Amino acid sequence: MSAGWTLAGIVGWPIEHSLSPLLHARWLAEYHIAGSYIPVALRREDLSAGLDGLRRAGFVGTNVTVPHKEAAFALAERLDEPARLCGAANLLLFQEGRVEGRNTDASGLAKSLIHELGEECVKGGTALVLGAGGAARAAILALDTIGARDIFIFNRTASRGQFILQQMKSGVRARLHLAFPQEINRAMETTSLLVNATSGGMKGSSDLNFSLDKLPQTAAVCDLVYNPLETGLIRAARERQIRAINGLGMLMNQAADAFAAFFGVKPVITPTLRAGLERALAP
Ligand code: NAP
Repeated sequence: MSAGWTLAGIVGWPIEHSLSPLLHARWLAEYHIAGSYIPVALRREDLSAGLDGLRRAGFVGTNVTVPHKEAAFALAERLDEPARLCGAANLLLFQEGRVEGRNTDASGLAKSLIHELGEECVKGGTALVLGAGGAARAAILALDTIGARDIFIFNRTASRGQFILQQMKSGVRARLHLAFPQEINRAMETTSLLVNATSGGMKGSSDLNFSLDKLPQTAAVCDLVYNPLETGLIRAARERQIRAINGLGMLMNQAADAFAAFFGVKPVITPTLRAGLERALAP
């Protein structure tokens, strides 16, 4: 690649569903930056060699999506604190011959929650996180950053919930608790913010099947899923006039931090940008 042209991208498998190339292409055009952001499909077994190839081809770094975030964490030679706490990296930077792993999912979610619901949605209060994968870890960190006092973790497979509780409890100020099915209604009654960090309800996945009956009407719901834009969980919240947001805000904010790291300009997130993504996701 010629000097003055910056190359970055995203690796995942599959990759064609990713909205990141659309987001980054818009910003590259808007800020008149000489560069490209390229989606690269890499199978698990090809990740390490594939990343090496991108680095040799002159890429400054890549975003990392499903299923590679934990593998990216493992192969990074340097990690930022959020990546270390989450055990997952969604951003790799190739710097001075070294691979640096960062996690911008947690800060992206924190910014989205503050912007769309206000920090009072959970500051000093109780949050309930559904799920125990990489997104749930990012959610725990985001909620802790905003100042949640208690965070309950509820996962279909309880042992995975227990695992992330043990892994994260010493790194956050919030008190972490496991919620079990028989106690979930009690946990719901004290919840001020419920975050769905499972893939339940996502296009191509099975439904979440989670009742919001016990959630106070003053609470708020954040579904990290953004495809479809309105999940069953968001619909159920709105039917009860509970404030609810989807995962588009998190997506745009984590991408903005990655864009700044790749291209040196912090892009502004505008309603027009969101509308463009919503059009791209329209059924
Ligand atoms: P992951 O590591 O594969 O974890 C998936 C989690 O979902 C597990 O806890 C799994 O439970 C649970 N799950 C899956 N299907 C379920 C169902 N039908 N009912 C209840 N639980 C179910 O995935 P991830 O990377 O954490 O991603 C989770 C979700 O977050 C995805 O929808 C992803 O698109 C979204 N996400 C959004 C953003 C954004 O920018 N908005 C960023 C990252 C992720 P078990 O442990 O029992 O299998």
